[in-house]
Amino acid sequence: MEFDMTKPVPETQPWSEKFWEGAKEGKLLIQVCKDCKSKIFYPRKFCPECWSGNLGWIEATGKAKIFTFSTAYDMVEPKFTDELPYTIAYVDLDEGIRNKLSEIETQLNGFKELIERINNLHRTIQ
Ligand SMILES: [Zn+2]
Repeated sequence: MEFDMTKPVPETQPWSEKFWEGAKEGKLLIQVCKDCKSKIFYPRKFCPECWSGNLGWIEATGKAKIFTFSTAYDMVEPKFTDELPYTIAYVDLDEGIRNKLSEIETQLNGFKELIERINNLHRTIQ
């Protein structure tokens, strides 16, 4: 029996295209509501605070504090076993947003500063 080992890729929506274009360039883009100034993550069609569709984008500074993290050594989706071990972290971005980052997507998207902090904290705790 053969399994499809192709890793899933995110589905791009018209309102998230700019986010993924930024990610390809190593930028973490965050939506901002031009009416109520709320910062929005993940990309959406409308502001979840005031339902405005008047949204723009800012680039995150890349500065964040780690809220929590976990390193997977085993028992993951078989498509990702070649990535083991890998770390997933929730970080509080300086922009006021809590975001989940995995080491895999961090490497893919160039958010190296964040993963460096995760790894340094990991080493400190061990
Ligand atoms: Zn708003």
